[in-house]
Amino acid sequence: MPVTSRYLRLTLYTVLILVGAVVAGGWAMQQAKHHALEESARRGPEQLSLYANSLHTLIERYRALPAVLAQDPELIAALAGHVTPEVQAQLNRKLERINGAAQSSTLELLDSTGLAVAASNWNTSNSYVGHNYGFRPYFSQTRSQGTGRFYAVGVTSGIPGYFLSSAVHDGGGRFLGAIVVKLEFPELEREWSQGSDTLLVSDARDIVFIANQPGWRYRHLRPLNDSDRDNITVTRQYDKQPLTLMPTRTLRVFDDNSFLTQVDGPDGPTDYLWGSLPLKAEGWTLHLLRKPPTASEDGRNAALAAVGLWLTLVFLGLFLFQRWRIGRMRQRNREELEQLVEARTRDLRTAQDGLVQSAKLAALGQMSAALAHEINQPLTAQRMQLATLRLLLDHGRIEDAYKALTPLEHMLTRMAALTGHLKTYARQSPSGLRERLDLASVVDQALQLVEPRLKEEGVELHTRLVRPAWVRGDAIRLEQVMINLLRNALDAMHDTPRKQLEICIEADQQLWHLTVSDSGGGISDEHLGKVFDPFFTTKPVGDGLGLGLAVSYAIVHELGGRLTACNHADGALFTLTLPIAQDA
Ligand code: ADP
Repeated sequence: MPVTSRYLRLTLYTVLILVGAVVAGGWAMQQAKHHALEESARRGPEQLSLYANSLHTLIERYRALPAVLAQDPELIAALAGHVTPEVQAQLNRKLERINGAAQSSTLELLDSTGLAVAASNWNTSNSYVGHNYGFRPYFSQTRSQGTGRFYAVGVTSGIPGYFLSSAVHDGGGRFLGAIVVKLEFPELEREWSQGSDTLLVSDARDIVFIANQPGWRYRHLRPLNDSDRDNITVTRQYDKQPLTLMPTRTLRVFDDNSFLTQVDGPDGPTDYLWGSLPLKAEGWTLHLLRKPPTASEDGRNAALAAVGLWLTLVFLGLFLFQRWRIGRMRQRNREELEQLVEARTRDLRTAQDGLVQSAKLAALGQMSAALAHEINQPLTAQRMQLATLRLLLDHGRIEDAYKALTPLEHMLTRMAALTGHLKTYARQSPSGLRERLDLASVVDQALQLVEPRLKEEGVELHTRLVRPAWVRGDAIRLEQVMINLLRNALDAMHDTPRKQLEICIEADQQLWHLTVSDSGGGISDEHLGKVFDPFFTTKPVGDGLGLGLAVSYAIVHELGGRLTACNHADGALFTLTLPIAQDA
């Protein structure tokens, strides 16, 4: 693979791993945030109910006040009769006193038309006395149901508050008027504003009227329809206060009363964990708005853990992949090697068969020349002997003629042996032929073929052969091996004065050892390792092909034997080892 593409791949992998780490980290952080958000949202209702309780307690404290005052005989009597200025002054002071003791905002007494006949704030500039509040819903509620309640901005004072009222009846149950207590919530708002959370109370129309943060009061959380607006105008609930929409967008819903909401508030768009709790008794809803938890230590830890896990997985994956790849590569190498070995073995076998054949033919050529020489001589001798024989017969010397036949017969036998051997020599023997044969007789045959040379060159021959030495193999091929060894020995001793050739066959447990040693000076160290190589020869061009030992080696190996060369005292020693053949 080219270096640049490898570099590119490496870069790509690195980038992928890093992107994976960032994604994993980001995802884990997101999950942690998600979790923290849900956790925080779950805590909402508890806090909400605490706040709701404090509001509820405050209202309950004052609810009894108008109910008790409605029983007051003095008030009943006043409403039943004509309210003179003296009575009014008396009532005003009474209400002022009770209001001070009860710590409510104001107390007022309305007659059956809704006209304030007395009020605790009679001597302030905002005095209710003389104003008619018959248009307020709490008044009509009180007349019809006996009690009333209504949150509104005071039309006289401009101060918002919660009006709780009870009907005043005479002994006959006739509606005389109403006694009204007003609560204001600045104390509560102050108390609530201490925390960082935003607390809101909205009415049935989702108009916020209590808020512990500036900018929220008199904002409606959903758009108002025409009937809403008409009703607000008639009841003058929020009097002159302008009502504006607070745009909100729900981002997530945790449950019916818990959301993640974006508010386009006074400080720009802000996300809030928004919890709501309906206050059934008043028909209001309490809202708790909290800032969602920001990226915390937990989030960072989760991200780090995820990155760590991701990297671990990546490196584990890489490690396993690498191992798998190495395994596969090894497997492939092994297979390739096996295939190569097979192919080479096939090639070698083919080459070897060819070599055996050509070496045989070469040997045949050499042998033919030798034979021609060998046969010519006896032929001439025989022709002369025949002439002698004819003469002897002509002269009737039968006795002598018989005697003269014996050397003729000898010569013919020898010639027949030579040619008989030749006949089989050039034949390609089927490979794998395994006849049971005597190694000693193979030696005999070979010696017979080289006998003329042995004699001519005056070679001293010693043989020590175990007979019979049974082996399994191909007689012709083994003979070829023997002839090669003998001829090499004779070649080596050609120029040495002392020519000694020794052939032995010995056995150990399972093997025959056939040794051929000569006194030809041996093989030099540098050549010793090469003598079995094909075409290795030290003989002059034309004399040696360098195939003899290579072919012999191959033949012996094919028969399950071994052929080795070494040096001894003054010559070379070749050892042929073959397994001993068991019984036929
Ligand atoms: P060739 O006889 O055609 O050279 P061989 O394969 O039979 O081929 O022999 C290879 C070489 O081994 C010979 O050339 C010779 O150098 C060496 N060699 C073989 N036998 C002997 C021996 N008995 N003594 C010394 N050298 C030998």
